[in-house]
Amino acid sequence: MLTQLNPQPLSKHIALIELHQETNSFSQVPTTLREFESLALYYGEEVLTHGIKVYKKFQLAGFISTVKQHGQGRFKTVPILAAWATSGGPIEASVYKHFHHYILEQLQGMAQIDGIYLSLHGAMGVEGMRDPEAYLLRAIRQVVGEAVPIGVSYDLHGNITEEKVRLATFINAYQTNPHRDHFKVGQKAARLLMDTMDGKVNPTMAFLKMPLLKGGGMTIDFLKPMRKVFGVMRKMEKRSEVLSISNFMSHIWLDDEETGWSCIAVTDNNPQLARELSETLADLNWSIKDHKHPEPVTVQKAVSTIEGMNWRRRFGTAVFCDTSDIVAAGGPGENTYILKYLMQNAPHLKSYLPLRDQEEVLRIFEFDIGHEVTLTLGRKLEQEYNATLSYQGLLTKKSETKFGKTAVVRHANIFLVLTELPCPAFSPSFFKNLGLSLWKADIVVVKNLFPFRVKYSLYNRKTFNVGTSGTTELDVSRLNYKKIPRPIHPLDTIADWRKPIE
Ligand SMILES: [Zn+2]
Repeated sequence: MLTQLNPQPLSKHIALIELHQETNSFSQVPTTLREFESLALYYGEEVLTHGIKVYKKFQLAGFISTVKQHGQGRFKTVPILAAWATSGGPIEASVYKHFHHYILEQLQGMAQIDGIYLSLHGAMGVEGMRDPEAYLLRAIRQVVGEAVPIGVSYDLHGNITEEKVRLATFINAYQTNPHRDHFKVGQKAARLLMDTMDGKVNPTMAFLKMPLLKGGGMTIDFLKPMRKVFGVMRKMEKRSEVLSISNFMSHIWLDDEETGWSCIAVTDNNPQLARELSETLADLNWSIKDHKHPEPVTVQKAVSTIEGMNWRRRFGTAVFCDTSDIVAAGGPGENTYILKYLMQNAPHLKSYLPLRDQEEVLRIFEFDIGHEVTLTLGRKLEQEYNATLSYQGLLTKKSETKFGKTAVVRHANIFLVLTELPCPAFSPSFFKNLGLSLWKADIVVVKNLFPFRVKYSLYNRKTFNVGTSGTTELDVSRLNYKKIPRPIHPLDTIADWRKPIE
């Protein structure tokens, strides 16, 4: 008698795609392939051999580790792409097309696709296109059909649109700002996608959009007023039928006809509950919409304050956040506003200031250390707000960093750090690696809004959000929007988010 052998269960194949860039529509500097190459760009197997080793805290790493740990060998992850670029202007159309065709080609070449995981930003813009992430999702749906589950993770600054929701099986997002939970987001998406593919859950989403355009200081998850909102989200997620709750605070510098805050509740086959929870969250967001957060200070005020901080300066530094040139939000990184003030009014204060100027850094790289150089800075990429500035100093350091060729030019006590690529200086190690001690500085200028607040905490005795002038202006009334929906708070008066148009 023949013994029937139990056939080995076939593994289910999950395609993995990660494509992140946050677009600032007001930036005149397009995002090119170089910006991806300089941050993270891995194709196919490289994602496993290199990508998740370098980016071991990010979504794909979290996703893959959870599949390995909990998938009982029944799921096979098939990496296709992991691409990240720094925030900036819209992506060049040819670069987007390259990614788009590569992704589709790879999917078409797969013999078996049982699920797809996409890790996207949600506020990605492409020259001449509207909602490119929805366009990509639509093309992927056309390849795999309606039945294959597609799980999508977004940054909570994502601009979520009707179409993005319609094309996904479920959506989840960061629940921290500054973002610290990339890995967890990938883990959660992996559990949800495996459960969906196994038929254990049936994700049902409710999506609500609010006419709300608020950003900057009020959106930190552990501070008022958002602490309460994130606390409520965590409680909601503890309910048994709830699979995921997301609150999108959008990206105020993405000028799109669906720009605005949104909430997504994903339940296990309970549309009524999903609707109720997303509505509760939307009401909560609306209730804190008028929260007052500190206005940026002038550079004059910031400098005069630290002049009187003698004892504190001996035990660390002060950090100036150049609020209108936030590289991590799409600022070009070449703003001369603070530098000009320091040169004219406070050259005696020891200050470190990063500034992007490819042309000048390449030119002075030819010189030896100790050479006296004269630089013409600013207004090379951003013509509208930025001013040209002449700067003379001593070349004290040349180095290759992840921001390209980097040179330190000293004028009195100002240490200007010139870089080829936009430099957010979000980590103190950037200055330390150039021999600039954080303990000895009076002022360190950074061009990012959130991560530095955690990373500089050892050295930072006081943070100043310095109001300058540029493409990441925090005051939305001073931004030249052309496409956003109106009315929208705070530009217009709206009584209830449900009925924005009276
Ligand atoms: Zn973000």
